[in-house]
Amino acid sequence: MGSSHGGAGNRFRVTVDDLRRAVDAEVRRNWSDRQWMRWLDAAAVLHGQSFRNVVLIKLQMPDAVWVDGRPGWQRQGRHIARGASGIRIAASARDVDRAAGPVQGHAVATVWDISQTEGSPPPPIGTVAGLRPEDVYAALARVALDAGYRVNRRPLPDEPNGAMTDRRRRRVIVSDNLDGAVAAMRLAHELAHLRMHKLSHDSGCHGLARLEAESVAYTMLARFGVLPAHQMASAAGTIGRNPSVRLVETLGGRVVAAAGRLIGAMDRHLPTAQVRPGKARTAPMCLDAEDRELDRGL
Ligand SMILES: [Zn+2]
Repeated sequence: MGSSHGGAGNRFRVTVDDLRRAVDAEVRRNWSDRQWMRWLDAAAVLHGQSFRNVVLIKLQMPDAVWVDGRPGWQRQGRHIARGASGIRIAASARDVDRAAGPVQGHAVATVWDISQTEGSPPPPIGTVAGLRPEDVYAALARVALDAGYRVNRRPLPDEPNGAMTDRRRRRVIVSDNLDGAVAAMRLAHELAHLRMHKLSHDSGCHGLARLEAESVAYTMLARFGVLPAHQMASAAGTIGRNPSVRLVETLGGRVVAAAGRLIGAMDRHLPTAQVRPGKARTAPMCLDAEDRELDRGL
């Protein structure tokens, strides 16, 4: 508890509106290609958090790598260090412990980074270390197969993206001259389109759809520590240097939600029990339709 200095740091006065305003101001102030990638990097590490909560966590504790509420840390055999002031995020009210009964809409929740906790040694944190790009590619191909899409490698001389999806025949083709990490990135990009966009055969890959697919693929490969040296589509070049906050937040919400679902679907196909914070999915993921649950925060 202790002293606080206003803003999102004051645990007694912070409202959901305060959090929303803090996110809006942060996005308005810092929007750029570089910041966009920083948020995606943070979303990769803070798997399971909504885009707005990723922005809030980075704002309050830039080095946070694993946040959870008090009960979550207790389940890990850890407790909050004395005097550690929590990080305020938005949670859907049903996720917030309340003795007072059901609460509608969103509520302010307090979480702590692992660095603010003490107790039993934690499992490894950060991005998932020790995976090879080939492991990630194979897991992506299994996610596609679970959803009824075969993945093939063959020459694609006329395809500048190095990959394409044939929705009618339900197959994804990745150029056979791409190396491991780039091939995984192209496959992740195609799965993101399948998950997010109703692209007709010749509507192509450009504009916002391209940026979304690139951003999802970037977040996924960052999560598994296998990002290729890769020039991502420019976010500011796509939606402008001064986009509306609402557009950035919608984009962020869609990208982080889709990447989170795809990462969850990959977990069970990775070679070892690699996956920590966040929930592993147990059922195959549908790629042809997006769930309604887009962004849990705010
Ligand atoms: Zn594309």
